[in-house]
Amino acid sequence: MTPSSPAIRPARGGTLVLGGGFAGAYVARGLGARGATIVNPANFMLYTPLLPEAAAGSIEPRHVTVPLRTMCPHADLLLGSAVALDTDAKVAHVSSEAGSFAVGYERLVIALGAVTHTPEHALPLKTVSDAIRLRNHVMRQIELADADPSQAERRLTFVFAGAGFAGVETLAELQDLAEGALRHHPRLKDVRPRWIAVDSSSRILGQVPESLARFAARTLARRGVEVITGTALSAVQPRAVLLSDGRRIETETVVWTVGVAANPAAARLGLPLDERGRVPVDELFRVDGLDGVFALGDIAAVPNAATGAVDPPTCQHALRQAKRLSKNLRGRIKPYAFKSLGSMATLGRRHGIAVVFGVRLRGVLGWGVARGYHLAALPFTSRRLRVMADWTHAAVFRRDPVAT
Ligand SMILES: Cc1cc2nc3c(=O)[nH]c(=O)nc-3n(C[C@H](O)[C@H](O)[C@H](O)COP(=O)(O)OP(=O)(O)OC[C@H]3O[C@@H](n4cnc5c(N)ncnc54)[C@H](O)[C@@H]3O)c2cc1C
Repeated sequence: MTPSSPAIRPARGGTLVLGGGFAGAYVARGLGARGATIVNPANFMLYTPLLPEAAAGSIEPRHVTVPLRTMCPHADLLLGSAVALDTDAKVAHVSSEAGSFAVGYERLVIALGAVTHTPEHALPLKTVSDAIRLRNHVMRQIELADADPSQAERRLTFVFAGAGFAGVETLAELQDLAEGALRHHPRLKDVRPRWIAVDSSSRILGQVPESLARFAARTLARRGVEVITGTALSAVQPRAVLLSDGRRIETETVVWTVGVAANPAAARLGLPLDERGRVPVDELFRVDGLDGVFALGDIAAVPNAATGAVDPPTCQHALRQAKRLSKNLRGRIKPYAFKSLGSMATLGRRHGIAVVFGVRLRGVLGWGVARGYHLAALPFTSRRLRVMADWTHAAVFRRDPVAT
């Protein structure tokens, strides 16, 4: 420690958790009264699967967050970002608006998640602010198209890069929102909005069985959504996109849900990385060669003994990994093994798809299961009630068309 270095404050219970997303928050929660110190730039965990609905206004954006201090009542929260690591001294350096801090640990949990590399002129969807901005942007395009209908074709063309869960759900939800809003615009009644999903893989929703993905593609096609697969977005320009097959589409809206990569903070912290920039760990989440350092969630390559493969970057896996790691840290040590319970996606207008324990559900049943699952998975009855109230409100009344 140099004379100008901040004094080292010890992590609560000896465990320091870097990142308060799905993985980090559930590790700290699982540690219970043993306590932990969480370092995170915000004081909440974001429930990302409901972010598309927050962007489309069927859920109030604040309701898809869970306060970390309530979720992990025994943990200490330090609002800031981990900027450096001294694994020999077992100290992490944290930069915060309140100053610089050094936190000493006995056990370090790396749970810094993933980042999306969004090109200029495209809109990301990763945070609550992104969701609010996206909704406002879409509502604004409708108003601007109304102001000058000669621009309507371009302004009412919405392109989504990536047709995985986030891309498909966000497109479907925003299309619903926009259709409701367009009822108030008689000047635009002859304009047909274009909703376009572009994905470089051969089909949409690569994470779900092919028959369900086909059902989802047919459902979207019936609503006039153009699904372009096997094609990449090669350039995003201020008022157009270029596709890898040479097509040019004029648009003011490109929503970017591809290009998810492990948080490059891992490299800055000097952690070992695999070829995809993830921190490789063993079946007990241990980072090779670093005493007392564990990693999990989207930033890590976690081998799953039940599948024999490295886990995909999903909440479901981050949550299960966190539950296992917190038990291991409490002394009940077992290798991580988890078989996915299924996957699901909502497609707007009370449609959805779900695979639960191998059973495939579609239509209103798939939608109901997907919503029920998220409701059950959201921590706290108060959060669930708020989301249920939002859904009920959105079902009874039209969604609010204001762009704030
Ligand atoms: C729009 C969207 C929809 C999604 N939908 C689904 C879905 O339906 N189903 C599903 O299974 N998965 C979904 N996912 C993926 C899911 O969100 C991730 O797999 C999951 O959040 C991974 O958890 P994590 O804790 O590793 O990362 P995160 O939840 O991203 O948490 C990482 C945390 O680390 C913090 N952090 C970053 N840098 C630092 C730093 N230097 N110091 C301290 N803290 C830092 C971040 O602010 C964040 O709070 C979706 C993702 C998005 C973006």
